[in-house]
Amino acid sequence: VKAEEPPALALDLGGTQVRAAVVTTPGRVGSAVRIPTPVDEGPDAVVEACVTALRQAWASEGAHVRPAAIGICTPGPVDPFRGVVVDPPNLGPRFRDVPLRDRVAASLGLPAVLDRDTQVAALAEGRLGAAVGATDYLYITISTGIGGAIVSGGRLLRGPDGGAGEVGHIVVDRTGPRCGCGATGHLEAISAGVAVARAGREAAESGRSPALRRAVAAHGASFGARHVADAEAAGDPVAAAILADARDAFARACVSFVDLFNPEVIVVGGGLVLGDAARWLGPANERVRREAFRLAGRRARIVPARLGDDVGLVGAYLLAVRGGPAAVDG
Ligand SMILES: [Zn+2]
Repeated sequence: VKAEEPPALALDLGGTQVRAAVVTTPGRVGSAVRIPTPVDEGPDAVVEACVTALRQAWASEGAHVRPAAIGICTPGPVDPFRGVVVDPPNLGPRFRDVPLRDRVAASLGLPAVLDRDTQVAALAEGRLGAAVGATDYLYITISTGIGGAIVSGGRLLRGPDGGAGEVGHIVVDRTGPRCGCGATGHLEAISAGVAVARAGREAAESGRSPALRRAVAAHGASFGARHVADAEAAGDPVAAAILADARDAFARACVSFVDLFNPEVIVVGGGLVLGDAARWLGPANERVRREAFRLAGRRARIVPARLGDDVGLVGAYLLAVRGGPAAVDG
């Protein structure tokens, strides 16, 4: 990123909210506009919300600001080269093959670039975050689900179908719980927020944990992983065991990632981990030192993401500046 780059409009489309902001060099995010994602109203309403958020973000910076382009960070799967969002599970069943890039570009009258959220985050952490200077790194996010991206030898891995980097769907327990994808024993089915919440709810219903029973009663449908984390912090042993299991599965997965990719850094983001980074990353680093192949295990550092909630907007800005889908070496 050079000092003289013009500002860009950045869009971060998520399953719960749409965020937009004007971003200036070197990734400085202006005040972000947030609109709830109207998933139930269908694809046209979601696209319209994206356009509205971008217009408001631009207007809030003043008419004198001239963004050069729009960068879009969206849930996958996507075809970044056609600018199409294929069929993301969290944008509703009707959101299929939506040409989001071209529709946004036409509405705003600016060129646009689009890519998958995890690839965008990997680009941002590599340029301006926790993986600066690394040519071999992984980005993993653990929140409701688990997603990721792989940079190897300075190249962002995509695969012929754009499916590379689905690090949440490696098997860590052959007889483990059913994953949202339908398979058995995946990392996401044990370590993701949705899995921790499900285990917490089961413990509440079975009567094993009075603390979790109270939390489920208090929060109802909004009971989530953070309530299990709260119960652990308050000393509940059942909640502690659920999270210990989630962190242990993650640590074991990290050993496999290190042996597969020999990364310099594994950057870990997402609300579940960043709320308690030492407890998640400490054991993962120790296990990698102990169990991964010696040279790779000594090199790899598992570190928290640095760009926080703005990672999608910063990455979207970087897409706009480079004028094409995420790539680390160009
Ligand atoms: Zn899975």
